[in-house]
Amino acid sequence: MLGDRRRGHKVRKASSLGGYRAKRNFEKTTEPRGSAVRSGGSLFVVQKHAARRLHYDFRLELNGVLKSWAVARGPSLDPADRRLTVHVEDHPLEYGDFEGAIPAGEYGGGAVMVWDRGTWLPDGDPAEEYAKGRLRFSLEGKKLKGRWFLARMRGRGGEKRENWLLIKSDDEFARPGAGDSLLDEEPLSVVSGRSLDAIAADAAPVRKPRRRNPARTIPLRICAAVRSTRLIE
Ligand code: MN
Repeated sequence: MLGDRRRGHKVRKASSLGGYRAKRNFEKTTEPRGSAVRSGGSLFVVQKHAARRLHYDFRLELNGVLKSWAVARGPSLDPADRRLTVHVEDHPLEYGDFEGAIPAGEYGGGAVMVWDRGTWLPDGDPAEEYAKGRLRFSLEGKKLKGRWFLARMRGRGGEKRENWLLIKSDDEFARPGAGDSLLDEEPLSVVSGRSLDAIAADAAPVRKPRRRNPARTIPLRICAAVRSTRLIE
């Protein structure tokens, strides 16, 4: 009996990952397929993702999966900034460890960095509040701390995806007027210290030394070009 109940439990948990798995070819991408099942965890992770457009994926563990929102401009520490997010498909818990490059041409192709990670503490019952479209919580990450608010926007109907707003609450971790300063000051991975360019270069099938640190080589090439132009003049 217990075995049956466990099996039923697993099937129910796994079903919310159907959308995630349908979008991906796990023969080609190194992203996790996802099998971990647990309840009561409190992981939060923010992944910086250089897909067609750079964005930040904000994820909160709830009911054994990572509820996920794509934040176009990334989080802001200014309580006056309401950052628009698109609520995207649930991701498996293992995704919180994923850092690497999704191959070009695959869904979400581009480098993924673990930009911040830690635990979240919701106010009230998170499943109930989530269903109501409002989550108030505290974050204990390396970069993001203090109180935050996620609120679902009223839809126009017929829209495939929900828009939510991510807002920093006014507390000692808020930085009024800060805009994107945190994103600029803290651009690197919290697990490897790497930049997005380094993650992309490390994952490339053939390593070319010149590609390993483009930030250093490109300005040199520009300098050389400027110098040679001056010589011609
Ligand atoms: Mn993404």
